[in-house]
Amino acid sequence: MRDRPSGTKPHQLDPHARRILERAELEGIELIRFLYADHGGVIRGKAASRSRLAERLSTGIGHTVAMMAMNMLDQLQEVEHLGPVGEVRIVPDPATYVPLPHAPGAAAMLSDLCLPDGSPWGACARTFLKEAIAELRTEGYTLVAAFEPEFTLGRRLPDPSGGPDRLVPLDDSLCYATTGFDTAHDYTIKLIRALETQGLRVEHYHPELGPGQQELSIRHAPALRAADNHVIYRETVRGVAMRMQMWASLAPKPLADQAGNGCHLHLSLWNETQNVFAEESEVRDGFIGGLLAHLPALTALTCGSVNSFRRLAPRTWAGAYAVYGPDNREAAIRVCSPLGETGEPNLELKPSDSSANPYLSLGAVIHAGLDGIRRKLDPGEAVDVDPDTRPGRYPRLPKSLDEALDALEGDEVLMEALGPLRRSAYLAVKRSEAAAFAGKDVPYELFHHLRVF
Ligand code: GLU
Ligand code: MG
Repeated sequence: MRDRPSGTKPHQLDPHARRILERAELEGIELIRFLYADHGGVIRGKAASRSRLAERLSTGIGHTVAMMAMNMLDQLQEVEHLGPVGEVRIVPDPATYVPLPHAPGAAAMLSDLCLPDGSPWGACARTFLKEAIAELRTEGYTLVAAFEPEFTLGRRLPDPSGGPDRLVPLDDSLCYATTGFDTAHDYTIKLIRALETQGLRVEHYHPELGPGQQELSIRHAPALRAADNHVIYRETVRGVAMRMQMWASLAPKPLADQAGNGCHLHLSLWNETQNVFAEESEVRDGFIGGLLAHLPALTALTCGSVNSFRRLAPRTWAGAYAVYGPDNREAAIRVCSPLGETGEPNLELKPSDSSANPYLSLGAVIHAGLDGIRRKLDPGEAVDVDPDTRPGRYPRLPKSLDEALDALEGDEVLMEALGPLRRSAYLAVKRSEAAAFAGKDVPYELFHHLRVF
């Protein structure tokens, strides 16, 4: 490396970092994007050039604290300690380096936002998840997770009547229909190759219900890796489409009158030897009870945008009721039957979409489940009907972002888990989004969500 900073000799780098430098050189990488997810659920970052990478791997890149007070419309909110004064570092995790197939010459690394002395910062989302994982560990458990994202593939076109750009879906194929496999074929093959190259294992693919709607799921992984994978996934879904002059949107409802894009969370909980969701137990019940008890508040984090609540409606398989049931696709929590003898039983949380910050979302899920285990919460009876067919009997989840934020503010466990800086910033950012879209028309909301997610 020609321009190695003085004081950073190759032998002083840890083996991970040395391998990254070698790979970047070999792979012809010029820019390495250090990525993080913000409180608006937006993936942002800064990039280091290869010639400065050795130093940046250890120092990170300097960043303003204010970006964690920015909403998804790039409107900066007033949050104490997140103003024009103050500095953090975007510090990449060496285990996450991936060259980006959709952006030749670029690689990415998932990053933490740290204080200048390298210590954890109270507004970093990835740190929140790491701390939740550590907390769960103190009880002897690890969480394995998979995100099951749906997205809409099409073209972003100007509105003929001068309104904001719209997403015009690729096709009008039917759900699971082979026409859809063919219309999206070139894109899907490129996408799968790009994901696999980055170390994500593709599980299943099919054309979904809505026009241009696709579902492509990724194999489960330990919680932090699963959330990192989902960031890479979002980047790749969009990036591959852009290189093909298309537009892919993971927004919860990019087309107001069509099926929404969920991102169901599949969860299994492991002790030293086994999946504790494999059979009924106090721990499994407690985890479900914890999710149910915190669900209204949890949706403020797992369904993080104004657009999320256009999706989260009954009879759309989005899980709009706070109930659980075996293979019940209208329950917020589906207890999934395992696939074959080697399959692992898992829980599927349906009120979840890709406009959420995946680190906050999964971290909050852990805290909710853990609270249920510790307090031995009773999940009540499993529900084996569509809850919407029993009016008034089952609790409906929040119908708007503001309603979900009210629930979050009233949830002591989640507020405490988020900590003072993160919770004040999250609430300020999300309240501002709710206010910004109130009174605006539907095309405005759709455009601003499909532009970002
Ligand atoms: N599109 C549905 C949602 O918004 C999910 C459909 C399915 O079960 O795959 O969650
Ligand atoms: Mg689906």
